[in-house]
Amino acid sequence: MSLAGKLAQERRARLAAERLLDMKQAELSAANRKLGLHAMALTKRIGETQAEVETVRDENEKVKSDLTLANAKIEVAERRLWHSIQTIQDGFAFFDDQSRLIGANAAYLSVFDGVEDVAPGITYSRILEILTSEGLVDIGSDSAADWQARMLTRWAQPHPEPVVIKLWNGHYFKLIDQRGNGGDVVSLGLNITASVRHEAELKAARERAEAANRAKSAFLANMSHEIRTPMNGIVGMTELMSETPLDEEQRLYLNTIRNSGEALLVIINDVLDYSKIEADKLILHPEQFDFERCILEVAMLLQPSVRDKGLSLLVDYDLFLPTLFVGDPGRVRQVLTNLVGNAVKFTSEGHVLIRVTGVPNPDANICDIHVAIEDTGIGIEADKIRHIFGEFNQVEDERNRQFEGTGLGLAITKRLIALMGGSVWVESEFGQGSCFGFRITLPTVEGPQPTPPDLADCPRHVVVVEDLAVNRAILSKQLGRLGSQVTVCASGGEALAVVDDSVDLLLCDHDLPDMDGLELATTLKDRGWADLPVVVMSANPGVIHANPARHLIEGVLQKPIPRAELYSRLMALGRTPQEQDTIAVRAGEQHQEPDKTGKNQRLMRVLAAEDNRTNQLILEKMVKDLNIELRFAGNGIEAVQEHRDFDPDLIFMDISMPNMDGKQATAEIRRREIGTKRHVPIVALTAHAMVGDDQGILSAGLDHYLTKPLQKMKIHQMILDNQPEEALSVIAEDAEPD
Ligand code: ADP
Repeated sequence: MSLAGKLAQERRARLAAERLLDMKQAELSAANRKLGLHAMALTKRIGETQAEVETVRDENEKVKSDLTLANAKIEVAERRLWHSIQTIQDGFAFFDDQSRLIGANAAYLSVFDGVEDVAPGITYSRILEILTSEGLVDIGSDSAADWQARMLTRWAQPHPEPVVIKLWNGHYFKLIDQRGNGGDVVSLGLNITASVRHEAELKAARERAEAANRAKSAFLANMSHEIRTPMNGIVGMTELMSETPLDEEQRLYLNTIRNSGEALLVIINDVLDYSKIEADKLILHPEQFDFERCILEVAMLLQPSVRDKGLSLLVDYDLFLPTLFVGDPGRVRQVLTNLVGNAVKFTSEGHVLIRVTGVPNPDANICDIHVAIEDTGIGIEADKIRHIFGEFNQVEDERNRQFEGTGLGLAITKRLIALMGGSVWVESEFGQGSCFGFRITLPTVEGPQPTPPDLADCPRHVVVVEDLAVNRAILSKQLGRLGSQVTVCASGGEALAVVDDSVDLLLCDHDLPDMDGLELATTLKDRGWADLPVVVMSANPGVIHANPARHLIEGVLQKPIPRAELYSRLMALGRTPQEQDTIAVRAGEQHQEPDKTGKNQRLMRVLAAEDNRTNQLILEKMVKDLNIELRFAGNGIEAVQEHRDFDPDLIFMDISMPNMDGKQATAEIRRREIGTKRHVPIVALTAHAMVGDDQGILSAGLDHYLTKPLQKMKIHQMILDNQPEEALSVIAEDAEPD
């Protein structure tokens, strides 16, 4: 090969080698670049990871320092808590679920006074043993074992009741134990020594106060009783004296003495009643009574003051309410007298309305009775109303000062109603009037109640003439319920305008604004309504009876009108005169006729056991007109003797007498009567306040009782009611019974 060839060959080879080298170098630098990029990425990731590690490390540090801080805080809190627990005066301890002591404060441990066993780990039962064996606790009359057993039983309860223990040094601790969810128990021992002592002092003070109050009540009761005896003498004597010839002036003086005496007795009775209620000595004497009649009696009693003041006293007794109940009529009357008496006292114009409604429960034979007493009087200010049922509380203002009173009436009323199981309330509008109400539940008398009249007998169309709206409403309700058509008029003029042929009866008030009832009747007759029956209502019927025009009217009804009276008057209108006579005779049958057989030989024998000479004298004078043989016994022993020697037909028995009181004497007489088939009627003569002194009066064998001051009429009635058939009539031939 030529050199040139060889050179060319070499050059080609060199060029090829150089190309290969370039290529390899390019590959190498690409690989290098790739490696560089990798290295860079790696470095970046390493940097990031390092930063993360840094952060985590920082956080770890923070948590660590927080934990240390928290631990420190817990330690401080625990120290403070424990310090507090240590410093409190009351004992504090924790027990685990095995009843082992975990810890206790100094107060708790101090009770054990250095007994070393009492330390964490000791069981509750062992603590109880130490308390008794070391004499640390006063277990009274219990044995140590019993006391421990009782305390352990209590401890085992899920929620142990607090218990009070007394320590040897006279300190009292109240143990309050609280069981947690895990069974741990937190035990607190409160030192209640001061409050126990305070309570004991209070109790002693209360007992002293109660004893003083009882002594005061007993003193009051005694005093009023002592005052009553001479007062009864005074009032009784005035009654007798009023029957002797007296001139005008003497009669006036005598009436004043009697009225003052009676007023004083009312006050004394209030005080006495109150002290008896206070001393829990007042009891009720239930018997059958007519509630409506009771109300009407009270209304009648108050009628004189009602009339003097020009008021109207109205009774609205629910037509369908029974009237016969079992209760203490004396006390019911007392409540009514207080409330209605107040209403009249504090009202100077307008009316007083007694409204009685009720809900009978025939299944249980009882009836809920609501009585409301409304007046149009001075009313009571709102801020005073709460106090008036309190003792001796009277509204103090110039309008009230003119009224007398003890301030005890409502307090007594409230207590009496409470004793009957009822409640009393009041609503009032100052200057407008008041409404006092009470509710009692009374058993109804089994058997028939007085029934409303037969509807067929009632007038079909009645014109009621009455200027007082309340009374118009009451009458139209009462008549409406009987099925009558009622037309109401407020004046005589109005009545004259409405009367027509359909009217069967005109019922009119006597005191109408334009004319009186008799003038209205006269005008009606003049206008040709001669056949229309007119019945006039008046609180003072005497005035009508004295008027010559009286014959023009059918009859007079005294206000407040008893329902029975209204009904019988309405029914009588539909009857013939003969039928009416029969009714009158039947009514008369209730009165016992004196024995007039003429066969009787001896006088009725009446024994009066009464130690007080004045009362003996009064009684003697009161019965002097009666045909009886009267004998006195000065005390219970004498009464028993006279019962044997005198063989009385009736005994009046004073209750409080020396040596043997009336109840003992009666019991002895009843004992002697056993097997003799005899039962002499014995009538207790009691001071008002002794009624209900205890069950003794009637249960001692007494049949009736009369209250002092003695009333001639009641004494006579009692003798009349009990005169024996074989004795001469007690009414002397020439004498009129009272
Ligand atoms: P008092 O013997 O004074 O009547 P009460 O206990 O019966 O005693 O009544 C207490 C007071 O209540 C009365 O003094 C009077 O201020 C007031 N009060 C009672 N009833 C009425 C009434 N119907 N209207 C106005 N005030 C009355």
